[in-house]
Amino acid sequence: MQPDRGTRAVVNLDAIVNNIKVAKRNLKVGTKLCAVVKANAYGHGAIPVAIACIEAGVDYFAVALVQEAVELREAGITKPILVLGAMPVRPSMADLCVRFNIAHAVFDEERLTLLNEAGLRRDKKAKIHIALDTGMHRIGIKIDEAAAFAEKVKAMQGIEVVGAFSHFSAADVEDKSYADYQYEQFMKGVEALEAAGLQIPIKHIANSAAIAELPQYQLDMVRLGITLYGSRPADITEPYKDYRPVMTLKTQVAFVKTLPAGRDIGYGRTFTTERESRIATVPIGYADGVSRHLSNKGCMVVRGKRAPIVGRVCMDQIMLDVTDIPDVAVGDDVIVYGGPELPAEEVAATVGTISYEMFCVLHPRIPRIYV
Ligand code: PLP
Repeated sequence: MQPDRGTRAVVNLDAIVNNIKVAKRNLKVGTKLCAVVKANAYGHGAIPVAIACIEAGVDYFAVALVQEAVELREAGITKPILVLGAMPVRPSMADLCVRFNIAHAVFDEERLTLLNEAGLRRDKKAKIHIALDTGMHRIGIKIDEAAAFAEKVKAMQGIEVVGAFSHFSAADVEDKSYADYQYEQFMKGVEALEAAGLQIPIKHIANSAAIAELPQYQLDMVRLGITLYGSRPADITEPYKDYRPVMTLKTQVAFVKTLPAGRDIGYGRTFTTERESRIATVPIGYADGVSRHLSNKGCMVVRGKRAPIVGRVCMDQIMLDVTDIPDVAVGDDVIVYGGPELPAEEVAATVGTISYEMFCVLHPRIPRIYV
């Protein structure tokens, strides 16, 4: 058995199933749903999440790395998988894609050639989704170069085009005009590919924000990321109200003591008690992925009440002021974030980041408990 310090990420797979249902409610019949499970399913655990997704009727998976796709295959996941990121220019990577039937994003001749050669070596087709740059300027072929790229693709006997995609950079803001522009650009790019004679079976651009707020842009497939995990990409709440948070990060009180006024807490003596105080110590810290920016700013929930973080967040321990919470004792459960008591988005805002990052940086030493 694993030694247990009481710190764990509780992952509610029923909430995953609920979130897929909510997303599907917005989809036209026939639109495929792709679950984005990169970065260990945004920290939630790629394999258990993927299995729950399949049970809930997901059609496709997207990851960032070939290695993440191989992990899914080795766990027995047979649904189509797309690697969204930029593959290193190495033949071994392309070979893995072909061997494990993994589709890869392609947006330049180098990677196209690599995949083509891997396909030919194995007497199979390497599957690709052509990435179009519609305005994010991260990866993708420029729209006015799409026709020329299509000619290169057509010449490759080891390639099968499965799809074309792009990514919204600002679908989650109130002003949707840039998303409208990106969609227009995408359609132009797709037309150019098709006019050059390529068949594009799956066209996709929508992320969580677009699924919830721009249903007119669903096309053949949508990519569900942050809302799969029950968090919001945007500040507005209404379009996201039925998604349920999946993860609650928890720890337990390991030590409680009473200090008189005038005692300094933690590294750097950044907090001094102003009254007689009850201070609880919890076994979690920045090594676990809890931001040090929460020092003297954040809080955690103990016995249903918010306890301020006092002093600096340490590598493995954090101190809480529980003076105003009666009867706090060793072994009490503590919510670090998650659920209605302390939404991940709120903690992320305190730190100056987004829930995506908080989930992704959760260290592997925190056990994920599936309920
Ligand atoms: N598609 C691509 C290409 C992405 O990079 C991401 C996330 O980073 C997603 C889809 C999912 O986005 P979201 O989590 O906002 O739904």
